[in-house]
Amino acid sequence: MGRIVLPMEIRRLLHLVDDKSFVEFYTEADTVILKKYAPACIFCDSADNMIEYSGMKICKRCLEKMNGIAAEMKEQFEEQ
Ligand SMILES: [Zn+2]
Repeated sequence: MGRIVLPMEIRRLLHLVDDKSFVEFYTEADTVILKKYAPACIFCDSADNMIEYSGMKICKRCLEKMNGIAAEMKEQFEEQ
């Protein structure tokens, strides 16, 4: 029936542990690639103004929040 089973280790690694997780297949020459299907921001599920980093999608708003946190952390390190 064309089914495959992903080992638990790979499902954990890709955070494919709940019923809302999907994967997509595509091919390159004679290779089949299976990729986590992530159409929305990994943090807030928004699909607006996305950027991709290291295979993960992040929206601009969450990225700006992370930049703010990074700036605060940098200040704390410089105070020490
Ligand atoms: Zn977001």
